[in-house]
Amino acid sequence: MTQITLDNLAHSYLPNPQSEDDFALKQLDHVWKDGEAYALLGASGCGKSTLLNIISGLLVPSRGRILFDDKDVTHQDTVARNIAQVFQFPVVYDTMTVGDNLAFPLRNRGMDPAYIAKRVQQIASMIGMDDLLKRKARGLTADAKQKISLGRGMVREDVNAILFDEPLTVIDPHMKWELRTQLKALHNEFGHTMIYVTHDQTEALTFADKVVVMHDGRVVQLGTPEELFDTPEHTFVGYFIGSPGMNLIDAEVSGSMAHCGGHSVPLGGHYTAPGGHVQIGIRPEFVTIASGEEGLPVTIKRIEDVGRHQILRAEFAGKPVNAILPEGMTVPAGANRLKFAPERVNVYADDWRVTPLHSVSATTKEAV
Ligand code: ADP
Ligand code: MG
Repeated sequence: MTQITLDNLAHSYLPNPQSEDDFALKQLDHVWKDGEAYALLGASGCGKSTLLNIISGLLVPSRGRILFDDKDVTHQDTVARNIAQVFQFPVVYDTMTVGDNLAFPLRNRGMDPAYIAKRVQQIASMIGMDDLLKRKARGLTADAKQKISLGRGMVREDVNAILFDEPLTVIDPHMKWELRTQLKALHNEFGHTMIYVTHDQTEALTFADKVVVMHDGRVVQLGTPEELFDTPEHTFVGYFIGSPGMNLIDAEVSGSMAHCGGHSVPLGGHYTAPGGHVQIGIRPEFVTIASGEEGLPVTIKRIEDVGRHQILRAEFAGKPVNAILPEGMTVPAGANRLKFAPERVNVYADDWRVTPLHSVSATTKEAV
């Protein structure tokens, strides 16, 4: 196992990149700590696979270095780096049995046959394929083949890291949760450094201790699920994570007050007037209905019952604002305002979160 350091990394698929737009991966410095389970989360095309392939050695970056502990491995291949990688679509030897497919990485390394038999059995039960060990892989469903790929990625205990690139894409929805739980159990048991790529926030938040969020070739935040929820460092993290995501409203901010189209919104922190495109961000979980003079005037569009709670869809100044309301709550007649919990409002300038100078204490809040 190893700590993986990305030092001044960048990658372009073009031979002569000119501008930043030509880079699939913009300037990146990052440390993947030994033994942690990370999710790498971002929308399709943001550079996740590019980054993963650079870590595994399938791709040499245009710029920068990769270190495994203190060793520069930038020009080493995957085998030399001792990495296991599982891809989005199954890579399985059709003419081999399921058991031989699973044993392949171990035989390749000349491991003891008794150990191989035991380990293959262990992995087979983990992926729920005990009964199929003697069967040829040809003719199995894509779903079953991908389980073999996953098993093969997990079979070696001595790898430096295991990389998963959207490994559950072709897996049946019922099985997804179970396999993810198995991967987590495997991590707890062996403590491998794991990087799990996904565009699915639920997968990311349930699999990993730390989530690395990518957007447009950049890492925009590394944090625990709680940190991504409470203090999204970039507006993308705000609206990509959460359902619905964070509400973002254009504002002018000074002191501990935001002004949105002539309406005042109290903030939980004190700010020096930030420049650029300023927005306030509030998660729908911290929005409540009000009437009278309090809060922002909105047009309520509809209410969706999603079981555990309701989502109120409204508009302020022609842009959507959502609130999460408790199950069974009825919206009072005449309610046409939304109120934000001040300490839950984040401020953004040109999409990046502005850190408040200090928080507004309980006493000054009353004075506002
Ligand atoms: P993700 O895995 O997050 O969907 P990728 O890393 O596959 O994103 O792609 C990042 C960007 O690089 C995309 O714009 C994609 O079109 C481009 N790209 C990926 N692979 C290649 C390639 N082999 N040649 C040229 N461009 C590529
Ligand atoms: Mg990809």
